[in-house]
Amino acid sequence: MTKQQNLADVSSRIEAACLKANRKPDDVALVAVTKTIDAAGIEELYSLGLRNFGENRVDVFLEKVEALKAHPGIKWHFIGSLQTRKVRQVLPHIDYLHSLDRPSLAAEIEKRAERDIDCFLEVNISGEASKHGFTKEEAIEFLTEASFQHIRIIGLMTMAPLTQDETELHQVFHELKELQQRVASLDLNRVPCTELSMGMTNDYEIAIQEGATYIRVGRALVNDEIVEV
Ligand SMILES: *Cc1c(COP(=O)(O)O)cnc(C)c1O
Repeated sequence: MTKQQNLADVSSRIEAACLKANRKPDDVALVAVTKTIDAAGIEELYSLGLRNFGENRVDVFLEKVEALKAHPGIKWHFIGSLQTRKVRQVLPHIDYLHSLDRPSLAAEIEKRAERDIDCFLEVNISGEASKHGFTKEEAIEFLTEASFQHIRIIGLMTMAPLTQDETELHQVFHELKELQQRVASLDLNRVPCTELSMGMTNDYEIAIQEGATYIRVGRALVNDEIVEV
C-alpha cells in the first residue's frame, strides 16, 4: 500500500466513525505520527494535504522541523515524554504539546516560554504503571491550584492500554471525556480544556465515537513495507 492509499483508508474510516457518532469529520484532526517516517515521507504526506505531524523524540523532532521548515502551514505536535532539560530546545518549535505529564515539566515550560504554549494534560486513565501522566484526582488538583502565564491547557490526552477489548477501550476514552467536561466546567484561567487527544492506530475509531478531537496515528499511515502481489 502506498501512503496515498493508507491515508485514503484512514480518512474513510474517520468519516465512517464520525457518521456513526453523529459528528463532523472536520472536528477530528488527524495528527500523523512520524516516528517511523523520514523527512521525505513527511513531505509526501504534506503533498497529500496533511499539516499536523507528531514526534516523540527530541533529537528526531528537531531534525524534522529543520528539514521541513520551507513547508508553510505545518503544525508540529510533540507527543512523547519530554525531559525537563530538553524543554528549552524544543519549546520554540512546538505548536502543541500532548504530553504535559507532571508538575515539574509545567514549571520548566513556564520558566522558559516566551509565548503561549498550547498543551494537553496527559492523564493515566488506565492506571498502568508503565504509563505517564496525572491520575484523575491529581489532574483536578493540579489544574485548580496552578496559575499559568504561558501554558494554555487546551485539553486532555491519554494513551489507552494495548488491547483488542473494545469495551475496555470505550471505557477509558469515555472516562477521559468525562474528566474533560468536568475540568472545562470549572472555568479555570487559561484552562479552556475543550479538546481530547486520544486514539491511535489500534483504537482511533473507538476514540472518535467517544469524542476525540485529535487522533495520533502512526502505523496505519506507514505500513507500506507490506508489499502487495
Ligand atoms: C507512537 C505513538 C502514537 C501512534 O501510535 P500508532 O500505533 O503507530 O498509531 C500515538 N501517540 C503516541 C504518544 C505515540 O508514542
